[in-house]
Amino acid sequence: MKQFHLTFDNEQNFMAQLDKVKQWCSSNTAHNIVFRIYSEDMEKERIAKVCSILDKEMPQALYLGSTSNANILDGSLTDKEIIITCTVFEYETTKVLLLQYPFSEDNYKDAVDDLKRHCEANPWVNSIEMHATIMNMSMKGFCDEMSKLKSGIQVFGGGAFNPNMDDEYAFVFSKEKGFMEHGIIFLLLGGEDFHTYSTFISGWKPLKRKFTITKADKEVLYEIDGKSAFSVYKRFLNIEKNDNFFSNTLEFPLFMERDGIDILRCPLSVNDDDSLVMSSDMDENSTVRIAYGDPETILRSIRKDGQKISDFRPEVIQTFSCAARRAFWGDLNISKETAMFKDIAPTAGFYTHGEFLRISDNMLNFNVTLVIAAMREGDPPNSEKVDFYGPTFKKLDKIPMIWRFVSFIEASTAELEAMNEKLEMSAITDGLTKLYNRAEIERRIKQTLSYVENKETDNNISLIMLDIDNFKKVNDVYGHKEGDIVIIALSDVLRKITENIPNASVGRWGGEEFMVLLTQNDINEAIETAEKIRTAFAEMSFPNAGHQTVSIGVTQAKKGESTDSICTRVDKALYMAKEAGKNRVIRLD
Ligand code: GH3
Ligand code: MG
Ligand code: MG
Repeated sequence: MKQFHLTFDNEQNFMAQLDKVKQWCSSNTAHNIVFRIYSEDMEKERIAKVCSILDKEMPQALYLGSTSNANILDGSLTDKEIIITCTVFEYETTKVLLLQYPFSEDNYKDAVDDLKRHCEANPWVNSIEMHATIMNMSMKGFCDEMSKLKSGIQVFGGGAFNPNMDDEYAFVFSKEKGFMEHGIIFLLLGGEDFHTYSTFISGWKPLKRKFTITKADKEVLYEIDGKSAFSVYKRFLNIEKNDNFFSNTLEFPLFMERDGIDILRCPLSVNDDDSLVMSSDMDENSTVRIAYGDPETILRSIRKDGQKISDFRPEVIQTFSCAARRAFWGDLNISKETAMFKDIAPTAGFYTHGEFLRISDNMLNFNVTLVIAAMREGDPPNSEKVDFYGPTFKKLDKIPMIWRFVSFIEASTAELEAMNEKLEMSAITDGLTKLYNRAEIERRIKQTLSYVENKETDNNISLIMLDIDNFKKVNDVYGHKEGDIVIIALSDVLRKITENIPNASVGRWGGEEFMVLLTQNDINEAIETAEKIRTAFAEMSFPNAGHQTVSIGVTQAKKGESTDSICTRVDKALYMAKEAGKNRVIRLD
């Protein structure tokens, strides 16, 4: 496999470059030749010129291409508007097949069905490169269909784009059917000596704050946490509805997990109802986080995956990198991501609108990622490996100030979350006993009663109310401190006895009064629990106060009953226990 990189500035210059390719091909074995053309030039004329030269000069060669946001040549962003790569397959066993179809939400299935037929008819196919126009299209159905392709076939590729990120005009083209503004091109590759290693690199990091997608339909995101999706972007990132919306939001895509793989989605535009059109479909009820690019993390993943690609010993590396990455790094720094790959093998590609990669047979539509397809014919060569952990790997010279801010925000968010958790806990717990406080146990009783209010089935809600007997005496004789020890000891008994009862809640009702709410136990089980509490407490011995006792009232909720009503009854049961001589359990229905 041999790769040539050419550019198109003018016809003469291109012809001169092409001559070198022709020369090489005539003195070497060239079984198949494939040109890929990436163009930032959105006029068809110059691309058509390149195509017609190829038709004429190398009629045996295939070509395909797409418009791009920018091009990657020799591993770096290039200012060349039209770049051409030429891959020469030297093995007789390597086969290629070019397919092109119209592509929209209405007819994608025809394209995939035909692709499937070709894959079945050509069992040699092991890799598929795709170029498509995908703007404003939901990719879900397409990806589902592509996932059904013969297991093991690798698929990788990208969406055609425009140098102006806010412009949706894009097209693909090939020797098959010429230009298509709504089209898809598949290049089928394979044969026993043709090997591909495809992977994706993200490096985008989700911020800690979690959001829930409360309303979404395909790629339209209506609500986040019950609020309009736009309002969340407005509130957290101060992003306005204007012409720059897309270029502003794509540096902050939404991060979600699907099939265990981290996926990013960019907001493309805002609708009048403040819903957002996302770069691809969203999952309702899923958890998302706002992600941001972190150069350190990105470079770390480049190292890790770069080493794997290097170990594969490819002869050609194709890159499909999201235009959002370019917007994020800026043109001065973007090539830090890809430059090192050229030390492994000739590296070229383009900045896309959406990347595609089939992982474990699942076809995935990515955004903000760098999809890489490394290719090789024959066994791995014995050339020297590129060391991604060595000194030639370009590190960041200086961390931009914004990343210090991100780090500050992350640290503050973590602290706030921890503090919130603490606050939430202290708002519902009693200081002395660490049981629920009165407000919380009351809220729980109320909530439990309202759950069963409209249910036909018998409820199993019981309340146990306890009060320490003759407690004033403990305070008076042994002091308030000893009193506290007794209260804490009773709390421990309550905790211990209820810890294995599902959904039991224990709270301090007042001074030395406690309430236990049972939601899944009938009245007999509640009485049993009350008895256990009574005896366990009675058996305890305090350093000064010796043995103490509790009186307990137990009752079961009636259908449609209010919190007040059940609490009054259980209090009455407790009063009856006191009246009857204390240190006992009384049930009142
Ligand atoms: P009975 O058997 O009828 O319940 O008699 P009792 O002496 O326990 O009477 P009562 O329930 O009215 O007394 C409650 C006492 O509990 C009054 C109050 O001083 C004491 N107390 C309330 N909260 C605390 C506390 O947090 N610590 C201590 N040590 N004592 C408390
Ligand atoms: Mg008492
Ligand atoms: Mg009392």
